[in-house]
Amino acid sequence: MNTPPHPLWDQTIEALQDSIEPYDFRHWIRPIRCDEVNEDSHQVVLSVPDALHEKWLQENFVGEIRKVLRSITCEDFSVRVNSPDDDEVPASAIKTRQTVKAANWNPRVDLIDRYQFDAFIDGPTNRFALTAARAVADHPGTRYNPLFLYGGVGLGKTHLLHAIGHEVLKQRPDARVAYVTSEAFVNELIDAIRTHKMQQFRVKYRDNCDVLLVDDIQFIAGKDRTQEEFFHLFNALHSSHKQIVMTSDKVPQSIPDMEDRLRSRLQWGLIANINPPSFETRVAILKRKSESEGTALPDDVAMLVARHVRHNVRELEGVLMRLQACSGIFNRPIDIEMTEEILSDLVQESLHHVSVDHIMNAVAQEFGVAIGDLKGPRRQRAITIPRQVAMSLIRDLTHESLPQIGQCFGGRDHTTVINAVRRVEDLKGAVPGLAERIARLRARLATHQ
Ligand code: ADP
Ligand code: MG
Repeated sequence: MNTPPHPLWDQTIEALQDSIEPYDFRHWIRPIRCDEVNEDSHQVVLSVPDALHEKWLQENFVGEIRKVLRSITCEDFSVRVNSPDDDEVPASAIKTRQTVKAANWNPRVDLIDRYQFDAFIDGPTNRFALTAARAVADHPGTRYNPLFLYGGVGLGKTHLLHAIGHEVLKQRPDARVAYVTSEAFVNELIDAIRTHKMQQFRVKYRDNCDVLLVDDIQFIAGKDRTQEEFFHLFNALHSSHKQIVMTSDKVPQSIPDMEDRLRSRLQWGLIANINPPSFETRVAILKRKSESEGTALPDDVAMLVARHVRHNVRELEGVLMRLQACSGIFNRPIDIEMTEEILSDLVQESLHHVSVDHIMNAVAQEFGVAIGDLKGPRRQRAITIPRQVAMSLIRDLTHESLPQIGQCFGGRDHTTVINAVRRVEDLKGAVPGLAERIARLRARLATHQ
């Protein structure tokens, strides 16, 4: 059905585009059809696809529409909204801006107690990140905004993020500190869309939060809707001088499938890297942890462990835990012999127990794609490269035959697997950063991360 042109409505739409956020504009304003503009009686009649849309428009946007009409015509207009179905919308399906009351943050629940600055051992490879984190905690929203912490797995990013939250609350007990992993953010957003609670979602993150701590931001790679929402959230918080801190396993430039405008925001403030700890720092971490847990850890044992476990602090903690358990079970003090046994177990395991699932998981995580996509038919480069990497790693690290590997990827032919292995070698030279990512994946798989 054609509608007659209404220049005044066209102008109104244009002006609304500037005042209403893109998502809302696309979902609530675009679908509006203008049935009538009566400039004599000052009335505009609009129709929308359904009753829910009608109610939402009435409660959230008609005011803005009338304001725009007034600014163009200098007259007061009434706006009527019709929808084809006159079904009653259940009251629970919709909430107005005025009645929105979002849950408050409860940092005491979200923040892990032991992740405090005091418990963080500094060394040459993490000192810059630690200093930046402390500065941000002392002066949130002023100097380094956003702060972007990045580094490999198990190097203390989450620890520092929580420590910032604790410290802010220590200095300003009423500060509203929001800690969220980007996975939780994505899930919450999807839920909010599904249950029509976007308004609460936005109030919670934009209005009810002074310091936003987002862990593992790399997981929003490839999630367009989340990126859009996060982009606006970022702008809103940043412009009102609210502190944003993010962690990631890679620098913003290397996060795949991210909108440029968001990527550039992530680089606005300070970017601080955490590298694997030096030998001395590893020894210091082991000594500190064992002391705080009341375990006697001889120096030679600490050094032996530190020599073997080099890339991941969580793993250092893991070895210490095993030593403590072993010493408890056998009622023996921790010594070199026990330590050698435990370390050799670890090395054995890392050589033999890499499974297909493990590799699929690690690749999916590294590249921010779904496992279903790795196995599925999609042929976009953002999927085919991780898929080929997964195939070649499975070929290298497991005993699966070529046809078996093809089977793991939705029944592909074994020649596809051969090609993938070859192609990955070519791509390593051609795609910036790919060789490093594969090296990182191998290291992770070797250490069971
Ligand atoms: P990431 O988020 O970078 O993967 P985490 O912050 O979860 O790493 O750290 C893994 C474990 O190692 C945590 O238990 C954390 O307390 C500990 N850890 C990491 N770096 C340090 C450090 N410099 N001093 C003390 N503990 C550390
Ligand atoms: Mg972490």
